[in-house]
Amino acid sequence: MNCPFCDFADLRMRVHRHLLETHLDRVVTEHDEATGKMKYVIACPVCGLRYQHAVKPRYRDAGFLDEFKGEIGLVAFDQLLYHLDEQHPIQAGRPDTADAAAATASDQSPP
Ligand SMILES: [Zn+2]
Ligand SMILES: [Zn+2]
Repeated sequence: MNCPFCDFADLRMRVHRHLLETHLDRVVTEHDEATGKMKYVIACPVCGLRYQHAVKPRYRDAGFLDEFKGEIGLVAFDQLLYHLDEQHPIQAGRPDTADAAAATASDQSPP
């Protein structure tokens, strides 16, 4: 599949690693001082949808969060790749998905 942020294209697991190594800055962590809650946000580069997920309380310490940003990125990018697969198969570089859709459409009429 394709990296949604650049021209990199490879197997899903390699794209996943590439995202972690190259685009970790796309995962933004937000800290609400008032509630002490923390979350990470990853925005889909195709449709702009923002995936948010609360970070476990043990991540509250800001230094700790930096340390574990890689771990958070792992989950966030997995979510993003899943979203791309589901919502943007063409942008994700999945021509097989388009074939499957065509096959499903032709199922309507008998052979
Ligand atoms: Zn990339
Ligand atoms: Zn999207």
